Amino acid sequence: MDSDSASVNDPLAHVDLGESTAVADTVLLDVDGTLVDSTYLHALAWTRAFGAHDLAPPWWRIHRTVGMGGDLLVGEVCGADVEDRLGDTLRSEWADRYRELLPEVRSFPGARELVDAIRSAGLEVALASSGAAEFTDAALDILGMTRDDFDAVTSAEDVDRSKPHPDILGTALESAGGTQALLVGDTVWDVESAARLSAACVGVRTGGFSEAELDSAGAALVVDDIGVLAQCDWRRVSG
Ligand SMILES: [Mg+2]
Repeated sequence: MDSDSASVNDPLAHVDLGESTAVADTVLLDVDGTLVDSTYLHALAWTRAFGAHDLAPPWWRIHRTVGMGGDLLVGEVCGADVEDRLGDTLRSEWADRYRELLPEVRSFPGARELVDAIRSAGLEVALASSGAAEFTDAALDILGMTRDDFDAVTSAEDVDRSKPHPDILGTALESAGGTQALLVGDTVWDVESAARLSAACVGVRTGGFSEAELDSAGAALVVDDIGVLAQCDWRRVSG
């Protein structure tokens, strides 16, 4: 979407996000890189896990793949052979390394305000993360929030396939009792998974993807961070 047709000053439900989102009743929030500043720590954890097996994929490649589920990331970064030989081992070791880094994960300002704004508009709000449930709960602790603050919380274990497949979004939408989603996420994988669910994606730049990348992937709107979205005029449009 070009900047002429949407701005953050518009009521989100009135913004021309495309036909599919004109009646969005549920906002799905990605977690890593969107609500908490964890993208680069995930890249570090993966680098350490790979390094323990003498694998040294470049940082940028890992960074650009964080946001996919770990089930897809190993093969994407190191190839099918490494996935076949070491996939589960690497995922286990990544989890160990990321667990060690959790004290360094910070929240982005505005998460609670964003949830309150969405709720006040009569919209459902759910978490839809490709991450493990353990780390979604850790993110909630960091945010000072709980699962009760959301209509649904969906993590990698709840589905067979992670982003960019739309399964996590579909499950989160259904669990929240909604019928049409709008996703807020930080990666092109979010944009792609939303598109597969015929949902729009509002991109935030806090995962390190540029506005141009998110825009060209098909994001309906790109803003700097969730703090900007928390100030938006969220309105539900019936019908
Ligand atoms: Mg993310």
